[in-house]
Amino acid sequence: MTHAELFERACRVIPGGVNSPVRAFNGVGGTPLYVTSGKAQKITTCDARELVDFCCSWGAMILGHAHPEVTEAICAQAGRGTTFGINTAIEVDLAERLCALVPGLERVRLVNSGTEAVMTAIRIARGVTGRKGIIKFDGCYHGHSDSMLVSAGSGLLTGGTLSSLGVSHRVASDTYVAPYNDINAVKEIIGQKGHEIAAIIVEPVAANMGLVCPDPTFLSKLRHEADRCGALLIFDEVIDGFRFHASTYAKLAGVQPDLFTLGKVIGGGLPLAAVGGYSVFMDQLAPMGGIYQAGTLSGNPLAVAAGLKTLEVLERDDPYGRMEELGNRLAKTVNEAAVEKGKPVRIANFKGVFTLFCSEQTMRNLTDVRTSDVAEYARIFHAVLDAGYYLPPSQFEVGFISAAHTQADIDGLSSAILAAM
Ligand SMILES: *Cc1c(COP(=O)(O)O)cnc(C)c1O
Repeated sequence: MTHAELFERACRVIPGGVNSPVRAFNGVGGTPLYVTSGKAQKITTCDARELVDFCCSWGAMILGHAHPEVTEAICAQAGRGTTFGINTAIEVDLAERLCALVPGLERVRLVNSGTEAVMTAIRIARGVTGRKGIIKFDGCYHGHSDSMLVSAGSGLLTGGTLSSLGVSHRVASDTYVAPYNDINAVKEIIGQKGHEIAAIIVEPVAANMGLVCPDPTFLSKLRHEADRCGALLIFDEVIDGFRFHASTYAKLAGVQPDLFTLGKVIGGGLPLAAVGGYSVFMDQLAPMGGIYQAGTLSGNPLAVAAGLKTLEVLERDDPYGRMEELGNRLAKTVNEAAVEKGKPVRIANFKGVFTLFCSEQTMRNLTDVRTSDVAEYARIFHAVLDAGYYLPPSQFEVGFISAAHTQADIDGLSSAILAAM
């Protein structure tokens, strides 16, 4: 079957033909792809084309597709049962591993998605502070729970505007939205509403508006502001956690949040995420405390087996230095050529997480990112796809270099981008 045939069938039974909106290719146009298999850094599509994959299931496949050891762990666990709704030893192993690797992670609860982890972190913050206000940053994505589907409104202090129908205005009005990297905006909100703020939530390296890195003091200032008003600081590390080294970005930055959310990498390609932090907050969760949270498949042994094995391989093989070098090589090659040819194309890159922006702007927030020429991104995306390289199908997403990518893959991608330019 062709992509078009499958998509036509899908549209008759799945809204928009997809189970997650960005897969519909609305950001780049054309027919969405259907994949039949993946191996290491490559995917094979339904029309038997092989593509080098720089999306890697949004970063989850840090070791590449169907890594032999991860596959073996999943198969072995499948043979022993996939979920019991009863405790298993390996969920204790994974929780111990995560707590050992992440400073400040004294307790951790396993859930099934990043959305669920963030929803729970917000509930904990509200539960322990008795407040309802949340400060988030425009362009950061925290999953699709109601209080997070809010973007910048007309004023900082009025609460955000809904970014989805079906979300209550009451919920949205409790979420204040500041520009990323703008500590003065945070101070202004806290100056007026500080006594109402339960939490400040941030992606410490923002990776859901394309790649935007924090200014050197942004995160430590957020820590200070949260302390000043008695709010919890939540680092949403669903992408960042275990992406840059075998721990959190918080550890790299030397800034300690109260709560973390983790996901993507720690699930080894299966649905698994986590919320955790200081015991004084986490122990307020049921059954010990009055903040309710539960899940039929939470911490199921299949996902836990994949996550545990992935962490084990990451610690043993330590592929991070190589991934960083490959990212630097890609950015250097493309950016030097773009400057030389006078093309407004720049690759933003941090340790192998990258975005090809069709703009020369330094990206510090969503307003900067919006200067990028999305039509030009779509054109380059398709030219590069024709050459056999799969970039994220939107200007506002990041690409991922996995442990399985080679220098030849990077040089091939650079050449394809330069040819498209
Ligand atoms: C992907 C992501 C989420 C949502 O995770 P899901 O598993 O898709 O629900 C939340 N926060 C961040 C930072 C993410 O990148």
